[in-house]
Amino acid sequence: MARVIVVGGGIGGLAAALAITRQGHRVVVLEREAAFAELGAGMQLAPNGIHALDRLGLGDRVRESAVHIDELRFMDGVTGRHVVSMPLTGAYRRRFGNPYVVAHRGDLYRLLLRACRARADIELRPGCRATGYRQDGRSATAVLDTGERVTGDALIGADGVHSAIRRQLVGDGPPRVAGITVFRSVIPMARVPERLRWNRVTWWAGPGRHFVHYPIGGGAYLNLAPSIENGVTEEFADVPVSAEQVLDAFTPLGAAARRLLALGADWRSWVLIDRDPVPGWTDGRVTLLGDAAHPMLHYAAQGACQSLEDAVFLGDLLACPPAEFGLRFRLYNVGRRERTARMQHIARESTKLWHPAGAAAVARNAMLSAFSATELHDRVAWMHGARDFGPAVEGTAPQGVAG
Ligand SMILES: Cc1cc2nc3c(=O)[nH]c(=O)nc-3n(C[C@H](O)[C@H](O)[C@H](O)COP(=O)(O)OP(=O)(O)OC[C@H]3O[C@@H](n4cnc5c(N)ncnc54)[C@H](O)[C@@H]3O)c2cc1C
Repeated sequence: MARVIVVGGGIGGLAAALAITRQGHRVVVLEREAAFAELGAGMQLAPNGIHALDRLGLGDRVRESAVHIDELRFMDGVTGRHVVSMPLTGAYRRRFGNPYVVAHRGDLYRLLLRACRARADIELRPGCRATGYRQDGRSATAVLDTGERVTGDALIGADGVHSAIRRQLVGDGPPRVAGITVFRSVIPMARVPERLRWNRVTWWAGPGRHFVHYPIGGGAYLNLAPSIENGVTEEFADVPVSAEQVLDAFTPLGAAARRLLALGADWRSWVLIDRDPVPGWTDGRVTLLGDAAHPMLHYAAQGACQSLEDAVFLGDLLACPPAEFGLRFRLYNVGRRERTARMQHIARESTKLWHPAGAAAVARNAMLSAFSATELHDRVAWMHGARDFGPAVEGTAPQGVAG
């Protein structure tokens, strides 16, 4: 039995703790915050994310509590015209084996936390900020800002997009500021005109900006999330912004989209950040997971899903004695890097589809509206349909991974 140190108690870190203890190992989760908690509103989970939760024994609880979305609907935000819809019921659920849901972020987190707390072999240690790691071939140690050292047989950096473990392991500097601001507001569904109370994730696409909304809280609330490419270069998060500023930023959108935006209140804003994919995020008995390994823009709604996939894929590989952990970490890295890099790329590229203006937008609409439901399902199958979360790794010789 090994003792594994997980740095970071977010969705990825807790899922990793659950997946690894299922192999008979013990896990210590070091979280910098004084309490284990996750804020935020809605989080879309495609069938692949729910398959990962199924593997952790938590899928039923998510299916019970989340909103099951019927359709992804793409609107021309300027003209207000419907362009195309991808149905998420019948054929989609049969093909991908799970629904597409919107879960409350806090609910999902609490579910993972309760499952971790129920296990004697998971130790949750809040108030522990790691600054880096050491290793000696047989063990790995988290170095905390207090000077304390926490040693185990191996270490996983699941400490998010600003990961201290990544800073030492990959050394690729701060994340890339994408020059895009996203605004968020949650409004009671009762305030939304009845004809717009859709059980859908809806995009209103416009020039250099778009607006997404979807129901959360069992359908009692609508989550509003407009984004604008405004070239912002400084990182910021959770900054209050007035309703007038939000409406001003979305003037090019038509009346239908703006009427919904006008319902927003208590707006907060974030700048979007991500990183370029890297082939190697493993160093001996230290590896990265989730946003620490492959942070992506949220436009593919896959960041948390990929953290969950990482956890399950890595957990499966760790059915071995600690002496093999270095090799298994490399197999995990090789097994996950192409899929996650493709997600990072798709998430970045999505603005090319969503943000054109004028004739380019007309051409985009014509192209999208020609797709049948089956063709749309074909296009997302690699993302939403995954159940194994990477190529088969049995006997694979890892290549090009750091360490
Ligand atoms: C606006 C927005 C919308 C999103 N929507 C979706 C969506 O719909 N679907 C989806 O799948 N994904 C979505 N995502 C992405 C998703 O939120 C992330 O990919 C996911 O939360 C990553 O989980 P993680 O555990 O890897 O990292 P994090 O959630 O960042 O957790 C990292 C944890 O490590 C802790 N930590 C950090 N540094 C240290 C340190 N030095 N020492 C100890 N602890 C440390 C942090 O406090 C935190 O608890 C969205 C993201 C954004 C920004």
